[in-house]
Amino acid sequence: MPKETLVMKFGGTSVGSADALTRAVEIIRQAREEWPHVVVVTSAMSGVTNLLLDSAAQAAEGKVDSLPDAEKSLREKHFSAAEALIKDNELCERTKQEIDALILSLIDFCKAIAVLGEASPRALDAVASLGERMSLRLLTAAVESAGIEAKAIESTEFIITNAHFQNAHPDFKLTTEKTRAYLNPLLDEGIVAITTGFIGATPEGVITTLGRGGSDYTAGIIGAVLPADDVWIWTDVDGVMTSDPRVVNGARTLPEMTYSEIAELAYYGAKVIHPKTIRPVIEAGIGLRICNTFNPSHPGTRLIPNSAGNGKAQANGHIVKAVTAIRKQRLVTIEGRGMLGVPGVAARAFSAVASTKTSVPLITQASSEQSICFAIPSESTNAVLDALHKAFAIELMERDIDRVWATDEIAIITAVGVGTRNTPGVAGQIFSKLGSQNINVLAIAHGSSDVSISMVVETKDSDEAVKALHELIVA
Ligand code: ADP
Ligand code: ASP
Ligand code: MG
Repeated sequence: MPKETLVMKFGGTSVGSADALTRAVEIIRQAREEWPHVVVVTSAMSGVTNLLLDSAAQAAEGKVDSLPDAEKSLREKHFSAAEALIKDNELCERTKQEIDALILSLIDFCKAIAVLGEASPRALDAVASLGERMSLRLLTAAVESAGIEAKAIESTEFIITNAHFQNAHPDFKLTTEKTRAYLNPLLDEGIVAITTGFIGATPEGVITTLGRGGSDYTAGIIGAVLPADDVWIWTDVDGVMTSDPRVVNGARTLPEMTYSEIAELAYYGAKVIHPKTIRPVIEAGIGLRICNTFNPSHPGTRLIPNSAGNGKAQANGHIVKAVTAIRKQRLVTIEGRGMLGVPGVAARAFSAVASTKTSVPLITQASSEQSICFAIPSESTNAVLDALHKAFAIELMERDIDRVWATDEIAIITAVGVGTRNTPGVAGQIFSKLGSQNINVLAIAHGSSDVSISMVVETKDSDEAVKALHELIVA
C-alpha cells in the first residue's frame, strides 16, 4: 500500500531561530511533495519553556523584577524570526499580535502567582503551554509564507488527558475520536495540519502538559491514533547515537535500534527521545525515525521491531550499542535486621514512595532481605524520606528497621543493546572496563528485559564511566 500519512515533530532547536525555521519549512515542503497527508508538531523555541517556568518559579517567591526581561527576550526571539520569515506584512503583524497576547498572559499569570505566593501544578502548566502556543503561530505563518497551505490548531482541542498536571496521561479513546475529527478533514483537503507538542487539556478544557520533553510523545500519540504510517522526530543531532555527543566526542549514529533498545535508552536518560513516545508507536505498529533538521539528507535512526534485532550484534560484533546516564539521583536504603520477619515491607515502602509521586528508575538487589535499596531523583529526597519515616514509624521505634537514609548524589549509567544482560562475558567486560578506570560501582541492576544493564556510580565518576563504556562500543 502506498504510504499516506506522515507526522513530523520539530524540537526546540529545530524551531529555535529564523535559520532553523527556514530549514524546518523546507523539510515540510519536501514532505508535502512526497506524502499526501502531513501533520506537523512543534515544540517551543529552544530555551522558552525554561524561561517561562523560571519566571513562574520566581513569581512564586514574590519576585517579579525579572519579568520585563523575560517579556523582552520572548518578544525579541519570536518577533525577529517572524520578521525574517513572514513576507506578507499583514500576516506578520497579525502573528506578532497573537504572540504578544500570549506574552502578556505570562505577565498576568506571574503577577497572580506572586500575589498567591505559590504556583500550583495547574498554573505551571498554563504558563508552560505558552511556549508551544507561540511557536505554533510562528511556524504556521512561516509555512504559509512559503506558499504551503497550512492550518494551526492547538493540541488542547484533541489531546484529552487526565488532570495530572505536569505529567498528564492521555485518554486514548477520547483523543482518538477528537484527533481524527479535527485533523482528518484538513488532511483530506491536502492542508498541512500544524499543532502544539507537549500540551493537552482535560475533558473540561483545562490545559495540561505531558511532562518535560513531551512533544515527542505528542507526535507518537497523534501518529498512533490517526493512525499515520510514519512518525519522524526532527532534532539537532543525526539520530540516536551511541552516547550523548555532548559527553562523548566519538559518539556515532546508530542507523537502526529495536523498540526495546530505544525504550531502555530513553528511559535511562538519553534525552534524544521522550521515553513515553515508544509505546503508542509500537502498539500501532507504525514507523519511527529520528533525524537531524540541520543535516536532513542524513538518514538518522530507524526503529525496527524487536524480532528483527534479535541476536544481531553490531557490524563490529559488539553487543553493547549505546551508553547513557541519568544524573542527579540518590540511593535510598531501608535497613534493619528485624525486616526479615516484617511482612510487606517492600510493598509498603514503594506505596509510601508512590504517595509522593516520585518515580523510581532503579531498584537494586540486596544481598539479603535485610535491606531495600532504590534510586530516586535528588529533588524528591526530603519528601520520600519523610513518607518512609511516617510509613515505618512503628518499625523504627521498635528497631525492626534501624535506618532509612539516602546517599549523596549518584548517577545511573546504563549500557543498552540486545543481549547485554544474557550474553556471557558482556557484564564481565563492563565491570573490568570500569575497574580499569578506578571507577567504583555502588550498585548494579538489570533492566526488565535482556537489553540493558545499569550501574550506580558516584556523580564525580559519571562522565568517565560513560566514556569508558563507550570504548566497548567503538573498539
Ligand atoms: P529536541 O529539542 O529536538 O527535542 P533534545 O535536546 O530534547 O532535542 O534532545 C536532543 C539532544 O539529546 C541532543 O542534542 C543530544 O545532546 C542529547 N542526547 C542524549 N543522549 C543522546 C543519544 N544517545 N543520541 C543522541 N542524542 C542524545
Ligand atoms: N517545550 C517542552 C520542554 O521544553 C516540550 C518539548 O520541547 O518537547 O520540555
Ligand atoms: Mg526533546
